[in-house]
Amino acid sequence: MLRQVLLAASRSGGVRRLVETAPYTRNVVRRFVAGESVAGALAVTEQLISDGLLITLDHLGEDTVEASQAETITGRYEELLGRLAQNGSGSRAEVSVKLTALGQLLDDGEKIALENARRVCAAARDANTTVTLDMEDHTTVDSTLRVLRKLREEFPSTGAVIQAYLRRAEEYCAALADEGSRVRLCKGAYSAPESVAFTGRDEIDRSYVRCMKVLMGGRGYPMLATHDPRLIEIGGSLAGLHGREPDSFEYQMLYGIRPNEQRRLARLGAQVRVYVPYGEQWYGYLMRRLAERPANLGFFLRSLATK
Ligand code: FAD
Repeated sequence: MLRQVLLAASRSGGVRRLVETAPYTRNVVRRFVAGESVAGALAVTEQLISDGLLITLDHLGEDTVEASQAETITGRYEELLGRLAQNGSGSRAEVSVKLTALGQLLDDGEKIALENARRVCAAARDANTTVTLDMEDHTTVDSTLRVLRKLREEFPSTGAVIQAYLRRAEEYCAALADEGSRVRLCKGAYSAPESVAFTGRDEIDRSYVRCMKVLMGGRGYPMLATHDPRLIEIGGSLAGLHGREPDSFEYQMLYGIRPNEQRRLARLGAQVRVYVPYGEQWYGYLMRRLAERPANLGFFLRSLATK
């Protein structure tokens, strides 16, 4: 219930203004977001790389309603990737992109998002790195998978995300578990109706395990995005079962969440990639993190009350 309220708030302009202007919100934002500028994000990236971690950088933005905004965000990604090319960290840092930020919801949006995503992928190739297409609201899934297929013809390493809460998740994983295919598996962070998504925690976890079995047993490169200790452990067992080397899959976690676990797994020889969001449009991202976990919300409310 609380989750639904917070997810609804993530799309409300009124709540957005309230949260953005609350005096101490920024302290909370700082825990989950690596600053508002490219420079801030690159400083965090360098630190995490020196701790033995891999990175995926997300220039925050979503649900773009004007073509000029989509153009601006595309340019920001090109700028970021230019910086990664200059400092040579492309082998450790990739980027995550939301197609709705690149114009997917505009009239003729799929075509616009595809063209913009092509530019981002070309800049990534120049920086010796790759792009993963984040998965968003369930209404965008088919379109995002169509764009992915087109991008992979030209940029085969472009990564997909499958949300285990979708009833069709296992089917999507089976279709993507082929050679060279990079697939991030997450539980899913948006609000979706029962008709398309599992809504119970156990059901979602069971779907996550089924999807992991398909991906870890397949020929692609699985990216297990979760903070859930049980699922991380099952992922490790499946790697052993399928004889996967540590460099043939990775764990992924969000910046600011379970940082000690990220480092512990990396010290054990696993590949761990941290999702590092940055930029001014942090509101929707923050609200999804609060919706996920009551403890995050408690942290947020305490920080508002005590400062
Ligand atoms: P949860 O059910 O939230 O948590 C399970 C358990 O993990 C908890 O019981 C606890 O033991 C542990 N845990 C979780 N949070 C904490 C914490 N703060 N401190 C300590 N322990 C904790 N969603 C999308 O819809 N689309 C995407 O493209 C997408 N990309 C993602 C990329 C990455 C790298 C990650 C990590 C997540 C992404 N997500 C995405 C979000 C994802 O769908 C989930 O909403 C989010 O990861 C929370 O689910 P969880 O698997 O961590 O499990």
